Amino acid sequence: MSIDLEIASQAQLKAIGDIAASVGLRTDDIIPFGHDKAKIPLSVLDAADADRGRLILVTAMSPTPAGEGKTTTSIGLADAINEVARLDSWPEVGGKRPAVLALREPSLGPVFGMKGGAAGGGHAQVLPMEDINLHFTGDFAAIALANNLAAAMLDNHMHHGNELDIDPRRITIRRVVDLNDRALRAAAIGLGGYNGGVPREDAFDIVVASEVMAVFCLATSLDDLKERLGRIVLARTRAKEPVTVADIGAAGAMAALLRNALAPNLVQTIEHTPAFVHGGPFANIAHGCNSVLATTAAMTYGQWAVTEAGFGADLGAEKFLDIKARAAGIWPSATVIVATVRALKYHGGVAKDELQEENVEALRAGLPNLRRHLENLQQVFGIPAVVSINRFPSDTDAEVAALIDALAADGVTAVEARHWAEGGAGAVDLARAVLAAAEEAADPAPQYTYPLEASLAEKIEAVATRIYRAGGVEFSPAVQRKLAQFTDEGYGELPVCIAKTQYSFSTDGTLRGAPEGHTLAVRDVRLSAGAGFVVAICGDIMTMPGLPKKPAALTIDVDDDGRITGLF
Ligand code: ADP
Ligand code: MG
Repeated sequence: MSIDLEIASQAQLKAIGDIAASVGLRTDDIIPFGHDKAKIPLSVLDAADADRGRLILVTAMSPTPAGEGKTTTSIGLADAINEVARLDSWPEVGGKRPAVLALREPSLGPVFGMKGGAAGGGHAQVLPMEDINLHFTGDFAAIALANNLAAAMLDNHMHHGNELDIDPRRITIRRVVDLNDRALRAAAIGLGGYNGGVPREDAFDIVVASEVMAVFCLATSLDDLKERLGRIVLARTRAKEPVTVADIGAAGAMAALLRNALAPNLVQTIEHTPAFVHGGPFANIAHGCNSVLATTAAMTYGQWAVTEAGFGADLGAEKFLDIKARAAGIWPSATVIVATVRALKYHGGVAKDELQEENVEALRAGLPNLRRHLENLQQVFGIPAVVSINRFPSDTDAEVAALIDALAADGVTAVEARHWAEGGAGAVDLARAVLAAAEEAADPAPQYTYPLEASLAEKIEAVATRIYRAGGVEFSPAVQRKLAQFTDEGYGELPVCIAKTQYSFSTDGTLRGAPEGHTLAVRDVRLSAGAGFVVAICGDIMTMPGLPKKPAALTIDVDDDGRITGLF
């Protein structure tokens, strides 16, 4: 059995009613899913104390392909804050727990593919990890159905006379499925003669790449959800006018399918910290964070809410702050940048298969990458940042000491965190450093990379030059025409969401470290009018991943007692 599954299976879960009770929720406030999961209805969240706790955002330096441990660190940090509260006997504050978590729900694509789960690891996990990784409470299935309903109604509209004059060659909505299935990347549909509908080219995406997922994660109520769904542009008419979900009359039925899913899911960490695990959009063509409702729920029930943004800080934290936080009216009091010895060595030029070997010199050579993420968070966004060194078994003491010393010389607090091996107790120093950084700064006022009033091109340029330190941006004539069209149609004040590789500040994933003066070439721009952003595509973005030759699904099994094996 894998180490994660073994640790998870030895953990003693509390009944979910007890976890809910620990934040003042009564049995009839929650909708239990079995004994260890529950949904918190929006009516209960609405009626809760409006006095919210403070927010801590966990992000990372540019990662290696293995992932540097943001989820694991978020869990360890929340457990550690609760541990600090116990050690220091924090006074009770309005029934709130010292720390509550908000995380994304895993997609089944990576679970059966290569990357593995997204419920943390080692002694820093959310439980029941088997359920969380395998369908959970069915939210993604509801999102897939809502999306596919819109697609079905659009094709049906064209079949029955096409009153809106939809151009079958300008349809942008795609059907979705929550699996990696490359055979669905391109498809012909509507075949079979008259009764098969209107033949056209289609393509499938994975659920997490759908705009419905992004909408779901930004919605603040059922009404807001319905309005955002209604604004999604599905297609264009022959006169190139946008055709929305509202135009084809699907918004109400889609929202009806999503009404239960929209309530955040409550689970617990191994150490019984309450965790809202809800929603999970892509971090490239979308903003890459758990739902706004989960984050605000964590702030409602925690004195501190800990949450994670996808990818490195140039993508995840930037989108969290410029898109999600701006839309939701929230702002973190502190950020944690997860750094690893291996990622630093990687940015210092070490080959992927030599990252296990001690190499202090390469680690130092990789520091410019981490330093730039720190500068961005502290200077562009004005938020205090602490570096969490996520300690791996192969790291040496000399490497960790060299890293702490180098950052101390810059005036940066870097703390070794051992939550993966030791649980919350292993991240107490990190928790104290983060709390101190947040306390020192009082509450920073939101400071965005760009104002919404700037033009779409200026907003893309601002992210490119201020965050990625590009020399400039290249817009092809086709992209310029589309930006002008979006602006004419009234979408010019939306924020921008840049889709590029997470492995480099540039669009070239092999340019490690802290490249400067590169060019951000915008290949295409897409409108996500429901989510409320314009996507700038700056690289090969795969919205339907494939499975590797030996997918993780080959090892996953279940025994006659229902026990899962082979999950990571
Ligand atoms: P991210 O959220 O940044 O993608 P995760 O927290 O999901 O990263 O971690 C990626 C993988 O690395 C997970 O399988 C996790 O169990 C593993 N991992 C994280 N931290 C450690 C550590 N300190 N030691 C060993 N494995 C770790
Ligand atoms: Mg993660």
